[in-house]
Parts: sequence; structure tokens; C-alpha cells
Amino acid sequence: MAANSTRQAMDSGFDDPDHDYAASIAGRAMRSMAEQRIPPTPANFAVWFRYFAGSQDDLRNAVDLLIDHNRPFDAGTNRNLFETYVAPQVSAVALNTSERLHTLMGAAKGFLATAIADNQSQIQAISEVTDQGNAGVDPKVLVGQLMNELARAATRATRLEAGFAEKTRELDVIRDSLSKSEERARTDMLTGLANRRALDEFLRQAQTTADWGEPLSVLLLDIDHFKSFNDNFGHSVGDQVLRLMARVLREKVRQQDLPARYGGEELIAVLPDADLAICAEIAEVIRRAIAECTITRRSTGEMLPSISVSIGVAQYRTGEAITDLIERCDRALYLAKGGGRNRVVTESELDRAAAAG
Ligand code: GH3
Ligand code: MG
Ligand code: MG
Repeated sequence: MAANSTRQAMDSGFDDPDHDYAASIAGRAMRSMAEQRIPPTPANFAVWFRYFAGSQDDLRNAVDLLIDHNRPFDAGTNRNLFETYVAPQVSAVALNTSERLHTLMGAAKGFLATAIADNQSQIQAISEVTDQGNAGVDPKVLVGQLMNELARAATRATRLEAGFAEKTRELDVIRDSLSKSEERARTDMLTGLANRRALDEFLRQAQTTADWGEPLSVLLLDIDHFKSFNDNFGHSVGDQVLRLMARVLREKVRQQDLPARYGGEELIAVLPDADLAICAEIAEVIRRAIAECTITRRSTGEMLPSISVSIGVAQYRTGEAITDLIERCDRALYLAKGGGRNRVVTESELDRAAAAG
């Protein structure tokens, strides 16, 4: 029985005391921010949630001091509060916190929706009473009273509903900006591809599936002679080229694959459910597409020399460490460079190269 009720509490969310507590803190934070016209951004919400949770004395003292001195919570003050008291802690637990906030937002929104539904059913109930009548009372008086009651309840409910709807919209804004900042934390800003963190996560998941027997392959791409390209045409033109490479990579891999920036001018793509031959084919399509790109300097329209890439390809071996897979891919890439660049080399050529001495 006890076990059963615990499970129900966890399932519904609303019976969970942790959720109720967090939802009430969130409500106070939101109200206070709205009163002080503080924009409901994730950073500001984090400050005010902590303030009302009372979990951080230094933050609480700082905010109380600002309130005591009637200082406005303008953009600069809000940013300072976040950077001084929240950011140092958030970085360590960023994912965990944002997951909890997501859950909290979901719970709070569900709660509001329930409250709106309750109000609507109250209105319904009162109007049903008017239908029943009462033999002992003058029907005209009864109807008059009930109609007044109904009108008052309807006004109350409408006001409440408008307030709830606004809160729901604010929660949506917070949820959206949380999703966006999570997305940013997983994206490489220059190329728009997945960054190392997102790559590592994807690889871990792909490895699990591959350990059940699905093939998994990786291609590692490095731009040829990129240093001298930068030296000749400038770093910002180099950046433009890197973005172009990223676009080609994104366009040529399949929907289930993950293209990512491995670092510097090295890009990578993880191909679940692809063996070495399929991965090598896709790598060849990418190599050719890049070699055929015409590159023009945006500012002047001047045609720049074409760019080529070398690509190493390797396939995951069940049970091995991901670092071993990447290392084989890197060695294949190195062979491609040594073999003259602008080419795809698979790991099967590593053994041949080793045998040849
Ligand atoms: P190789 O054909 O052997 O690869 O020659 P390389 O000159 O490309 O040599 P390497 O791969 O070691 O050079 C890396 C160069 O890539 C150095 C640096 O100038 C450039 N690079 C790395 N990251 C960036 C970046 O974000 N933007 C730009 N513009 N250049 C970058
Ligand atoms: Mg390199
Ligand atoms: Mg290079």
C-alpha cells in the first residue's frame, strides 16, 4: 500500500511534496519578477528562484540590500546577480538544473491548466443550480440571486483565467529560452554543427546500439593546406570556408547521422547503421562535393583557389573504446594526407600500409 501510494505520487507529480514546494517557490519568483518588471529570462529566473528558495545566503543578502536601498533591478544589476551568485554554481550542474526546471515548468503548467478547468466546472455547477429551482422559495427571487452569483463567479473566473493564461505564457517563454540555451550549449557557434559535447553524447548512445550488433562508422575530415589558405586570404575568409565545409557535410550525410566539429578545422560525422563501405561511399561524395565548390571572397566577389579535404574512415568494433575507433580514423586520415591529400582512406588500408612497411 505504502509502496503503491509512493509510486502514484511520483507519477502524478502534483502529490510529490518536492514538486509542490518547488512550484510554490517558482510562483513567488515569477510574481516578484513581474512586479519589478524583471524580464522572465532563465538567468533572472535562476536568481529569483534561489532567492525565494533561501538556499544561498550571499545571494539573499545581496538582493535584500538592493531592495532596502530601493535600487532598480535593471539589466546590469540582473546580469551581475546572475554572474556573481548563480553562474559559478550553474556551470557545474547546468544540465541537471535545466532538466529540473523543465520538469518544474511542466508541473506548474499542468497545475494551472487544472485550476482553469476547475473554475470552468464551478461556473457550470452554478448554472445547473438555476435549472433545479426550489419549491419553498419565490422562484423569481431564487433565480435573481443565482444569476447575481453566477455573474460574480463568472467575472472572478474570467479574471483568474486571464491571469493564469498570462502565467502560462510566461512559463512558455522560460521554457523556450531554456531549450534555446541548451541547444546553444550543444552547438558549435562558428559552423552551427554539433560541438564536442553533443558529439560525445551521440557517440555513447550509438555505441550502445552498435554493441547489440548494428554497424557504426565514423569519418574524420581535415581541410588540406588550410594554414596557408588562412595566411594568404585571412582568417575570416578561412572561417567562411570552414562554414561552407560544414554545410556540405551536413547536406551529404544521412538524416540519422551526426555531423559535428571535432576541433579546429577538423570535422567529423558519426554514421549509425553504416558499415565501412557505406561510410567510405558517403565520404567520397563529400570529398568530391567540396573539391567542386567554387569559393568567392564575399566582399569583392574575387574567385579563390578551390579547397580540398582528406578524409579517414573507420568502423566500430564491438566492445572497443570510442577513443580507439577515433584513433584508427585519425590514422587513416594521416595516410590520406601522406598519399597526396584530397582523398578518402579507410582503416582497411592501415593494415596494408603496415604490411608494406
Ligand atoms: P594539412 O593539409 O596537413 O592538414 O595542412 P594544414 O595547413 O591544414 O595543417 P593543419 O591541419 O595542421 O592546420 C590547421 C590550421 O587550421 C591552422 C589554423 O590556421 C587553421 N584553423 C584551425 N581552426 C580554425 C578556425 O576556426 N578558423 C580558421 N580560419 N582557421 C582555423
Ligand atoms: Mg588539422
Ligand atoms: Mg588541415
